[in-house]
Amino acid sequence: MPTTQRTELNQLGEFGLIDRIKQPFEQKQHTETRKGIGDDAAVIDYGQDFYTLHSTDLLIEGVHFDLSYMPLKYLGYKAVAVNVSDIAAMNGIPQQILVSIAVSNRFSVEAIDEIYEGIAEACQNYRLDLIGGDTTTSRAGLVLNISIIGKVKKNKITYRSGARENDILCVTGDLGAAYLGLQILEREKQVFLANPHAEPQLEGKDYIVQKQLKPEARTDIVYELDELGIIPTAMIDISDGLASEILHLCKQSNVGAVIFEDKLPIEDISWLTAQELNLPIMTCALNGGEDYELLFSIAQKDFEKVNKIADVSPIGYITSADKKATLRTKSGTVYPLEAQGWKHF
Ligand code: ADP
Ligand code: MG
Repeated sequence: MPTTQRTELNQLGEFGLIDRIKQPFEQKQHTETRKGIGDDAAVIDYGQDFYTLHSTDLLIEGVHFDLSYMPLKYLGYKAVAVNVSDIAAMNGIPQQILVSIAVSNRFSVEAIDEIYEGIAEACQNYRLDLIGGDTTTSRAGLVLNISIIGKVKKNKITYRSGARENDILCVTGDLGAAYLGLQILEREKQVFLANPHAEPQLEGKDYIVQKQLKPEARTDIVYELDELGIIPTAMIDISDGLASEILHLCKQSNVGAVIFEDKLPIEDISWLTAQELNLPIMTCALNGGEDYELLFSIAQKDFEKVNKIADVSPIGYITSADKKATLRTKSGTVYPLEAQGWKHF
């Protein structure tokens, strides 16, 4: 029977939509399909001592990047790095990528070369083979899709669902910088549009701008954890903001969490920039997107070991599900964590 019902996309949101898409496909047709939709990468078991991991990401001009300040080479690099990040989030090592692009005649051959220079640099840095893709035309704007294949030893795989009460919650690197970098680039774009002769005010902002334009995936941490003999109980990469990812981890592990405001790793330049732009730094750290750091939980027995990794900060611990996910401020006030991450619709 034809349906006249119309539900607006923003009623569901991105995660609601994915949940809806997922439902008819829960029943698997292949025993090899270990984990489908719902983690950072799909997990396939071909009966060896490792799992194969698959993930993909789609980048659209005007939605995910703005070519007025995103150099094409960095775009290529970033498109690869964000995929590598999803493999790292499974505690895995990336191996191959497929790259699909849609371009209009607004782009020259040299422009495409630049994108592929960035892709090649990332392939070099993360030890990846580019093994295929697709090329087609686009009427409006550049579209870039990368799919990635990786692997992880079966006993080392880390899902979003393994966090247990009293585990320690850790984060790599620092938070909020990529979002603040984006705000600075947007500000400079507006200044330039108003006066093309104005000098860009980017001094001292290299770190946050770089974090936005050319982020690195934390495969280094996957290796460090391995060397120290630590297998996180759960892990996810931070693409939509810390709060949103903590909520994913808690939901899938059926736990709660408390994180401490004064434990969140934030660079001085991020504090200064937030002040300059009149933005609350905590909102940038909790809800600013695109950090591409790793959020993971570890058993208490591994706490001493994890402290040996310079670029990892313990930020809180896992509680029972009824405690929900919360932030405790310096003054002791407790707030529920809310996902204000990227709302695509
Ligand atoms: P991430 O932020 O780690 O890239 P996403 O939030 O994009 O993860 O996706 C969450 C899960 O939903 C992943 O398992 C992803 O493969 C899956 N997914 C996202 N979009 C779709 C879609 N249109 N169809 C099927 N699966 C999807
Ligand atoms: Mg992810």
